[in-house]
Amino acid sequence: MHWDMIGRKPKAGETREIQPNLETFHLIREFADLKIVKIATGPNAAHSLFLTDDGDVWMLGRNEKGQLGVGDTDPHPLPVKVPTIYHTVGKKISNLKFVDGAVGRNHTILIAENGAVYGAGDNKMGQLGNENLKEHPSFVHITSLGKEKGATVACGAEYTMVLSDKGQLWAFGSPEYGQLGNKTNGQYLQQSNRLVHIPQTSPVVVAALKDKVVTQVACGTNHTLALVEGGVHSWGFGGYGRLGHSKQEDLWSPMPIEQFAGSNPISKATKIAAGSSFSMALDGQGQLWLWGKWKTTGDGGGGTPWMYPRTLYDLNGWSFKAITGGNVTLFCLPKTEPCTIAWGQGAVHSELGYGEGEPRSSTKPDKVRPLEGLEMLDVSCGLGQSLLLCKPGQEKLQDLPKWPLLDVEEHCIECLSAEDEESMLLCDKCDSGTHLGCTVPRLQVVPDTDWFCQGCTKAGEKNKTKQVDSSDAHKVPVKTTVKRKASTAKGASKKSKANNDSEDEDSE
Ligand SMILES: [Zn+2]
Ligand SMILES: [Zn+2]
Repeated sequence: MHWDMIGRKPKAGETREIQPNLETFHLIREFADLKIVKIATGPNAAHSLFLTDDGDVWMLGRNEKGQLGVGDTDPHPLPVKVPTIYHTVGKKISNLKFVDGAVGRNHTILIAENGAVYGAGDNKMGQLGNENLKEHPSFVHITSLGKEKGATVACGAEYTMVLSDKGQLWAFGSPEYGQLGNKTNGQYLQQSNRLVHIPQTSPVVVAALKDKVVTQVACGTNHTLALVEGGVHSWGFGGYGRLGHSKQEDLWSPMPIEQFAGSNPISKATKIAAGSSFSMALDGQGQLWLWGKWKTTGDGGGGTPWMYPRTLYDLNGWSFKAITGGNVTLFCLPKTEPCTIAWGQGAVHSELGYGEGEPRSSTKPDKVRPLEGLEMLDVSCGLGQSLLLCKPGQEKLQDLPKWPLLDVEEHCIECLSAEDEESMLLCDKCDSGTHLGCTVPRLQVVPDTDWFCQGCTKAGEKNKTKQVDSSDAHKVPVKTTVKRKASTAKGASKKSKANNDSEDEDSE
């Protein structure tokens, strides 16, 4: 893995060739026996986060500033679970469950079920909402949002926007370009004649939207979008028209974009997304609107950026349910057709996932061929990597490669005999074989749900967060599993089990 190289130029004298590990999307083995409900990376991030239905958080990727929040600053190419965070109210101690999260260039913000906000990683611009401006390699509690609770979060490169349960937007971190929307870019001239920006170290309400209810927030590198009653407000860095007001000026306060300001429900926005230097929105019909610099050359590139929202000819007639922008990539998930559409000029890490022998970069939207026929629930793309959340239980998931790649032994891992291969069950996590008669505990018949070998089951239990709740000690968390019949058509095939777990794929 090359997490420390992504998006960076070689140092003087250093020669290297970027060799993507994964040419297309792989299922992440570690999550085979978990249900992932949220995935997040960002246009500046070479790290990502995964939330489970149990409220646990897993992280992977670059970690130089401790942004994974796992207590160290080593890169983690494989998913690593964030240590349980305990909180105390009176005599009651319980472990926090998380419901949302977002990542910036070198920081991560989490929202707990109780509305508390936590941050880890770089804090030199106050992006953790903590005035000591020090790096925090473990998650720390962020100063309260008055009487409001955190609901969702978005991160720019060095700033954070928290949306509260009351629909109020709170901002902290670097005020550069006016991206916090608090009427300043925080700039002043130091005695050394250097321009610096004063870190905003505690959450402030975006004043211009105070009387409104914000329903979604999205951040690019240095610009912010907010969805307000079907209108889209934008502010921050105005370069290449990414704010959508036909001007390149920076805005220090939110301004509604004309395209979505009308009263016709069809022309109102239903979803927003921000890439590094561009913006995206879906209208009432699920049509994609795009503005800013979303390519390097040609129409939509640096020379002729899109100064206001426009539709893409190639996507005429498509209706989407999810959109995301990364550093150079754009992904859309169609509402009705089970496929993934992606494009991006200058993608060099195979983050479009088009597949082996296929182009890595594309100026036009195209289907990600290896994923045709697969229904995805959500998508998030970042710097040199893309994440997709699959709908669980799709038979076609069995055809996807798994990551990391493993050399699988030919023999049964319990009795070590390679005989009688037909009766071996394959572990849905590590692919190793176990004779039906060698399974522990002993199985009589081939199970019609996912099955995991003894080693993977033990490892999974070790990772499970124990529910600590001193006032309710007998409560046992109930995990619901969607049962699904095994495919009968495959007969003697040892791969005849249905793969019914929620999975994510990752391409780096
Ligand atoms: Zn055996
Ligand atoms: Zn296994």
